[in-house]
Amino acid sequence: MRDKDLYQRILGIEAPWTVTEVELDLEDRRHGEVRVHVAGSAENWPCPECGRLCLGYDHLPRRWRHLDTCQYPTILVAMVPRVDCPDHGVKQVRVPWAEPGSRFTALFEALVIDWLRQVASVASVARLLRLTWHEVDGVQRRAVRRGLARRTSKLPREIGVDETSFQRRHEYVTVVIDREAKVVSHVADGRGREVLDDYFDAHSAAEREAVTSVTMDMWPAYIESTREHIPDADTKIAFDKFHVAQHLGNAVDKVRREEHRVLRQEQDEQLKKTKYLWLRNPDNFTAEAWERFEVLRHSSLKTARAWAIKEYAMTLWSYRRRAWALRAWKRWYSWAIRSRLEPVKKVARMVKTHLDGILTAVIKGITNARAEGINAKIQWMKYTARGFRNRERFRDAIYFHLGGLDLYPAGLNLSAVTHTKA
Ligand SMILES: [Zn+2]
Repeated sequence: MRDKDLYQRILGIEAPWTVTEVELDLEDRRHGEVRVHVAGSAENWPCPECGRLCLGYDHLPRRWRHLDTCQYPTILVAMVPRVDCPDHGVKQVRVPWAEPGSRFTALFEALVIDWLRQVASVASVARLLRLTWHEVDGVQRRAVRRGLARRTSKLPREIGVDETSFQRRHEYVTVVIDREAKVVSHVADGRGREVLDDYFDAHSAAEREAVTSVTMDMWPAYIESTREHIPDADTKIAFDKFHVAQHLGNAVDKVRREEHRVLRQEQDEQLKKTKYLWLRNPDNFTAEAWERFEVLRHSSLKTARAWAIKEYAMTLWSYRRRAWALRAWKRWYSWAIRSRLEPVKKVARMVKTHLDGILTAVIKGITNARAEGINAKIQWMKYTARGFRNRERFRDAIYFHLGGLDLYPAGLNLSAVTHTKA
């Protein structure tokens, strides 16, 4: 029958397996399904553990969800032989269209993976493909486990370390980025020193020697761990623009809040609803916002002064020579420390203490746009998933989307068939 040949070809099924029957079950119009029956005709089958050809023992019925045909869910059905291996006992043989233990064909898993990459949220992919949340989550977990097992875990030469909050505000994970490959290399609970210690300890001395830069926030735990594990760390630790901007942005906001409080007592509302004007990049302002902001930033407000100090610091990242960069940053420091704005002075002192690492970032031209991009994607993942139930899921999602992993099921027979998204 032609159907059988067609499915045989589409599914890439080869001897000793053949399609024996294709059945369209329309009992219920809404839940109709196509069932493709596959059978294997062989006396002996290889043991899944050792490959030794063994005599068949018995058969067990199994089903796998496959890509839809004509919008009907399509199920592969087969009696799968078990062999009795002298060394490994009774084992189910491997089928060429699915990974062991999966209830989906390899192609279907690949489809779920493609959708997850596009849509990101497990819940929406489940809805889209009429699967349960746990089924989609299972595909994602297996994909990450597969990808991590395949990866050769070398220590990146250009490392970026960052923390990101997980669900509640004060729970963190540390994310280590391979800045060259632009992927997440490692995700671990917490942001304490031991997190980085463990990561560095898992790599050889030669790999640690080869590290050329470690970009991070001015965070003692990360600094100490790097100093202890990376030879010549003080010339490699770099405090990037993104984090310095973040500290200064927070300082501007603190100044604004305090000033607003004081002004309000005199019925002066000029700082009302201005928080984001001070924090946002003016390049992205609307004309209206610009007009309003122009007046504010030329005013004699303390907030305007704090903002100007921050903006000046943002211009000090293009030097190529350390001596020039040093002079510029010293000028900035003396301005900031005399500002009489306590939050700004606090950041100025932090900058002074960490100036070597800032200068390293400046002259190495480390912009950290990459890490920012990865961070933005993590924030977006948190948003689309509406939070993660636990750290493992959060970690899996980061690896899945940002780990640069090879996620697809092993190149089984079906992987040769190109598939289109449903
Ligand atoms: Zn065996």
